Amino acid sequence: MISTQTINTFKTIVGAENVITSSAGRLVYSYDATPNFQSMPEAVIAPRNTAEVAQIVTVCRDKKIPIVPRGSGTNLAAGTVPSEGGIVLLFKHMNNILEIDEENLTVTVQPGVVTLDMIKAVEQKGLFYPPDPSSMKISTMGGNINENSGGLRGL
Ligand SMILES: Cc1cc2nc3c(=O)[nH]c(=O)nc-3n(C[C@H](O)[C@H](O)[C@H](O)COP(=O)(O)OP(=O)(O)OC[C@H]3O[C@@H](n4cnc5c(N)ncnc54)[C@H](O)[C@@H]3O)c2cc1C
Repeated sequence: MISTQTINTFKTIVGAENVITSSAGRLVYSYDATPNFQSMPEAVIAPRNTAEVAQIVTVCRDKKIPIVPRGSGTNLAAGTVPSEGGIVLLFKHMNNILEIDEENLTVTVQPGVVTLDMIKAVEQKGLFYPPDPSSMKISTMGGNINENSGGLRGL
């Protein structure tokens, strides 16, 4: 069980408004698009940048608190269900495209970037990003990479 002191540490790192501990708030993050799987997280934490992620991970490592990262929760493998409790790490704030390198054909993104936003951004440069899961209007790059997601354009 996560102590009040540790919850307060999380609030210091990301701001109280980015730590959810209410039952109703946690319930929303106890399941994803996968049928028949549900488990309550002890807290839901939404970091705003990489430094905050690192601090949260350090606290969880020291306290042996499980971490379940979450993009938009559209996966169909119960990947964001916190079956061992702990925290859900929500990447909704980290949704910036940091660099489109046209010479090396690489893109640097934060994990919460919505797939379709990235597709549109590279298309504005005349480039093509093929992976097109049908959830692309809502799914995130972090989720896509972890689930190896794609669609018919990959053919
Ligand atoms: C209607 C619908 C249509 C779909 N169509 C397709 C399709 O055409 N093709 C396809 O491949 N899939 C499809 N899916 C499945 C799903 O959309 C994909 O798996 C998608 O990539 C999940 O993205 P997400 O942002 O919702 O990730 P989430 O569901 O939030 O997370 C997926 C996994 O990634 C991990 N994760 C997320 N962010 C991070 C991070 N920053 N760091 C580390 N781990 C992270 C999570 O812990 C979890 O294990 C569909 C799902 C639905 C509901």
